[in-house]
Amino acid sequence: MSLTVLMNAGPWLSVPPPGYGGIENVVATLVPELRRLGVRVVLASVESSTLPVDEKISVFPDGQFHALQRPYNQVCGVSQAHLNGVVRALHTRDDIDLVHDHVEAVGLATMAAMGPDAPPALHTLHWDLAKHPELYGNLDGGDRVRVNGVSASQLARAPQALRDHSVGHVHLSTPLAVDADRRAPVDKGDHVIILGRINPGKGQDLGARLAQQVGFPLVLAGPVGPYHRPEDLAAAGDEARQNPDVRFFYDQVAPHVDGDLVRWVGTVAGQERDDLLAGARASLFPLRWEEPGGTAVVESLALGTPVVSTARGCLPELIEHGRTGLLTTDEEELGELVLAAGLLEPDECRREAAARFTPAMMAERYVGLYERVRQLAARP
Ligand code: UDP
Repeated sequence: MSLTVLMNAGPWLSVPPPGYGGIENVVATLVPELRRLGVRVVLASVESSTLPVDEKISVFPDGQFHALQRPYNQVCGVSQAHLNGVVRALHTRDDIDLVHDHVEAVGLATMAAMGPDAPPALHTLHWDLAKHPELYGNLDGGDRVRVNGVSASQLARAPQALRDHSVGHVHLSTPLAVDADRRAPVDKGDHVIILGRINPGKGQDLGARLAQQVGFPLVLAGPVGPYHRPEDLAAAGDEARQNPDVRFFYDQVAPHVDGDLVRWVGTVAGQERDDLLAGARASLFPLRWEEPGGTAVVESLALGTPVVSTARGCLPELIEHGRTGLLTTDEEELGELVLAAGLLEPDECRREAAARFTPAMMAERYVGLYERVRQLAARP
């Protein structure tokens, strides 16, 4: 297939990400499979990205994640500087058939503002959109700008203007999703893991409190705001509290973190992350938001770890209650479900991931959407 796609991964982290990284993980998973299908990929990211692509565009030398600590207008400034670079590149060339954009809101608005000179664009929605309708006010790209969700439930909750521009949803994926037989069995430890950004929506406060009440070892893995390691957060002092996730951590989570039964280990990456996840008795998602896509949920399945979660957002789409995990609408019940999760079969989880969430499936689905977006844009 001769198709050239400009993949906009944004300026926050390199691709693949060094540890935590939602959007960057999605791009790192998708691009190799697209290229296997013959798609040429021009990656708009930061210079330090190492993902093999056909060409790179960047404005910043490396990830600007630390800038997320700054006031909101400066955060937007970083986004806008990156996007100006993308738009400059688009103005100087005519070989781009489609822009696949992952940069929240600002990306979409910029594509729309480029008007008929811009290639058609597909914007993948990564957030819980019901909460942020104002971010997506400008969809004046008409037929040229389309969106896709990362789950059916995310789209169902999205503002009408976005649903009008939707071409469907594609579930998230992970390279860890391979045939169950190709993976050696892993000895399960006693611990439970919550893998993800420390954030009120992800509910680490609830998980940590239940761990203390019910008495199960809990590992909290993920960054607190822009801080990846406990020692970095400690060194940042009081200034760090400007970040709402840092305040959440100190006020709601830390009181339950005793360094023994409940530990915060910071961001984990690579083999360390996979071993922690594969060795866990359960992967806990005490969600207080409507999880839009849940890469970490799919990763848990792929590594044979049952998921215990509040039945919110995409979780009921991804998890079959009683087979690959346990879901509840009563958050106080999560502690008991963690204890019961040991009865679920790790192989069932791995099989589910290999049947539904492989990178090849995700790429084929996106190629279908690219064709659809181009057809709609070409409509007289
Ligand atoms: N992640 C990681 N190390 C951590 C915490 C998270 O590598 O310490 C990864 C996780 O494995 C997943 C991604 O970051 O691939 C988070 O994506 P998800 O969709 O679960 O959550 P988001 O933060 O995008 O809402």
